[in-house]
Amino acid sequence: MTVYELGDDILVVDAGLAFPRDEHLGVDLVLPDFGYLVDRADQIRAVVLTHAHEDHVGSLPYLLREAGVPEVWATKLTLELVASKLDEHGVLRVAELREIVPEDGPFTIGPVVHTGDYKIDHTPVDGIKTDVGKLAEVGNRGVDLLLGDSTNAERPGVTLSERVVGEAFRQIIPARTGRIIISSFASNVHRMQQAMDVAVEVGRKVAVVGRSMRKNINIARNLGYVQVPDETMIKTADLDNYRPHEVMVVSTGSQGEPLSALTRIAYNDHPGVKVERGDTVIISAKPIPGNELRIHDTINGLTKLGAEVLHEEIAPVHVSGHGNAEELRTILALLRPKAVMPIHGEFRMLSAHARLAQEAGVPADAIVLAENGSVVELGPGGPRIVDQVESGMTFVDGLGVGDVRDVALRDRRHMSEDGVLIVVATLAGSNGRISGAPELIARGFGESDELIEELRAEAGRVLQELLSENVSEIKLLQEHLHDGIGQLVYDRTQRRPMILPVVIET
Ligand SMILES: [Zn+2]
Repeated sequence: MTVYELGDDILVVDAGLAFPRDEHLGVDLVLPDFGYLVDRADQIRAVVLTHAHEDHVGSLPYLLREAGVPEVWATKLTLELVASKLDEHGVLRVAELREIVPEDGPFTIGPVVHTGDYKIDHTPVDGIKTDVGKLAEVGNRGVDLLLGDSTNAERPGVTLSERVVGEAFRQIIPARTGRIIISSFASNVHRMQQAMDVAVEVGRKVAVVGRSMRKNINIARNLGYVQVPDETMIKTADLDNYRPHEVMVVSTGSQGEPLSALTRIAYNDHPGVKVERGDTVIISAKPIPGNELRIHDTINGLTKLGAEVLHEEIAPVHVSGHGNAEELRTILALLRPKAVMPIHGEFRMLSAHARLAQEAGVPADAIVLAENGSVVELGPGGPRIVDQVESGMTFVDGLGVGDVRDVALRDRRHMSEDGVLIVVATLAGSNGRISGAPELIARGFGESDELIEELRAEAGRVLQELLSENVSEIKLLQEHLHDGIGQLVYDRTQRRPMILPVVIET
């Protein structure tokens, strides 16, 4: 999230979220701390969304609820994807949604260019190439400051075209005799298009699993961004009517998210999709830093079930959506900005982008490396960090996707109000049985002895049920415990304590 201020007006660019790391037990989502904006809510004129990836739009419903925003601007597909998200959160009517037409050029906020995620793809899947002429024209008019994507600034050369992935699918899929399962980000509609194109070519039916994937593919098909014949699409429930070599499953879960479709498939815990020897799973995504271990667990699970798992380290089944160093240089050369503020990336990536800017002729004192909360002032002398404001993370402890209207915002301020509940269950090593009833430690949500007993029994029941279905993955057990116990506490007390499930193997 970037906040622009001119006089008393505030324009927000993107409102993303991060996914919790393992140390954030019991947390579902990580949002930026909106404190600064909440205090200045009446000054916010609009939010502009560069694209619909979760790290750019995921916290918008929470921002709308906390700060209220009169207008949200984005291109057509982003707007539709976001509208459905806002609707689920019951905040669709908070802001007016307004469409930006790319041909009209960038949203004009003065001589500042904010890139969003970009790469320069000369053979894009949708045929719409980077408008190099327009960028040069913007450069000719003069750019005071460039805020540019830095994700791949450390990587030399250029990023491969998205089309390369389609070619890999075309090599891999026709030769396979079992099921094909392809997992990617639900928002990567071009990736899904390329997979489904190959399914059509080889005569496989396609089933879509995972709520966000189903939703996004529906929206993209309705708008014409994804084109698949109706007769190719089948319901998950109908998979059993086809032989393995007749189907392709398109799935969420490329990040090993604990309750996602692919993770559940990997632990034999998915109601509609089974994996067996001869099947091929393609993970068409790169691990977000911090998710590597979860993805390794998923790959191990799938491999144990007999599948061959192809991922970016062993097959060209993913290319980055971010430009490498040469593409960043191209943008710097076209725009010739007077000053540069690298954004989107870890500090080392921002710093690599700063070096590229300097090589491109931007003076060192006109390059600013800002961190979360930094206030950068753009004046006649160039950009300067002049202040640091409240920033950081806010945790969301939701109760699963069916209950998004009621998710609880959790942080240190709120935790004291609804209390904490810690559930500790011990599994006896080799046979994976529960040793004794789970222990419960409750603080401050009006808990009675009867309720604690009921919760303890429920925790035991949830665990037994999972173990009897051969689910023994600690993270999955913890997520199921979290959701089951959270729901019961809410039903009985209308409170949402922070729930910390801890499963220990002895
Ligand atoms: Zn991004």
